[in-house]
Amino acid sequence: MTGNNTKKITVLGSTGSIGTQTMETVAFLGSFQVQAITGNRNVAEMERQIRQFKPKLAVMSDGEAGKELSLKTADTETKVAWGERALLEAAELDADILVSSIVGNAGLVPTMAAIKAGGRRIALANKETLVCAGHLFTKAILENHCELIPVDSEHSAIFQCLMSRGESEIRRILLTASGGPFRTKPISELYSVRKEDALKHPNWDMGAKITIDSATMMNKGLEVIEAMHLFSVPVEKIKVVVHPQSIVHSGVEFADNAIIAQMGTPDMRIPIQLALTYPKRLPSLAKPAELTEISQLTFEEPDLEKFGCLALALEIAGRTDSAPVVMNGANEEAVRLFLSDKIGFMDIPQIVRETVEKLGSLPADTIEEILERDRQSRRMVRELSL
Ligand code: NAD
Ligand code: MG
Repeated sequence: MTGNNTKKITVLGSTGSIGTQTMETVAFLGSFQVQAITGNRNVAEMERQIRQFKPKLAVMSDGEAGKELSLKTADTETKVAWGERALLEAAELDADILVSSIVGNAGLVPTMAAIKAGGRRIALANKETLVCAGHLFTKAILENHCELIPVDSEHSAIFQCLMSRGESEIRRILLTASGGPFRTKPISELYSVRKEDALKHPNWDMGAKITIDSATMMNKGLEVIEAMHLFSVPVEKIKVVVHPQSIVHSGVEFADNAIIAQMGTPDMRIPIQLALTYPKRLPSLAKPAELTEISQLTFEEPDLEKFGCLALALEIAGRTDSAPVVMNGANEEAVRLFLSDKIGFMDIPQIVRETVEKLGSLPADTIEEILERDRQSRRMVRELSL
């Protein structure tokens, strides 16, 4: 079955928004053998993927879900396993490409295990891991002969713009942001928004956590730090530009003030596919962008007073202590509490800032320290929200 052009692929978080679009792209390209797929609780989607892609290994993080999946797919050749060790086994399985699309800090340890298994391309969607452990990741990528290709649309755009860098310095990165569902809402109305309002993103269809992050603009804050690690630029050289149409996915300004930007429809299957096929560009499932129909592209400054999460991320982006890890962990927990109706929308920036003030100056140099800071910040958020 494995022809010369067939590549082995593993997808961590294959049942999520990025994960299912990756599997769709894998099926469309038809040139991959799926090694391992992983999910958390979605048994139905995992069973569907096992039957369609016939992976060697399928892992559920949740034990009950794993046992149920195992019974349902007993007639297949796929080995089904569950729990933390099994997730690491999936990450380490021999593969040419590993797609890291688990949401949140939960992706940290498995993605690092995949890098340490060596000699593979890491197609990275999971931005939280770069925010928490960017310096450890980029070092491990080099040491283990891996290649890091961004999946996040803005970072894929920047990666594509850098192809025309020539011998120029990067003067600035122009990181575009849609502004989310509350871009034009006055700050006074944000105190009463409900999760149903925050979950309605104008341009992108994504998982719940990143959709809330887009509404608070923490997503852009995380992306600034993600870009610093991926492209080795200081925060001063990154400008966040609000661009509500989400057609320009980001740009780079070079020494002569020329800006190269990447455009296209807001469809994650474009950056996902490029991360799988790079340096090839192949026909994709995404629709072309009809510029005359879109007709207007607009750009504005972000409102840092209204979007306190973005303001905080820009303030702490350059720090090498625990501030980024704590900000990320506190945000994950605050978003979880907001999604379960325990706190209000405007509590998110306030709680995250307070947690960073309390726990942000500790060391976070090793994976163990990073995981401990993450746990501490989640605990503190739960206490602050009571
Ligand atoms: P999602 O919630 O739709 O999917 C998350 C995946 O992670 C699922 O497969 C789930 O089973 C798995 N998962 C969740 N918790 C887990 C745990 N504790 N242990 C193991 N697995 C777990 O999320 P998504 O929108 O696909 O986002 C995934 C990542 O990609 C995030 O880091 C996000 O910031 C990034 N990203 C997403 C988009 C998008 O369009 N959705 C765009 C850019 C970047
Ligand atoms: Mg993005």
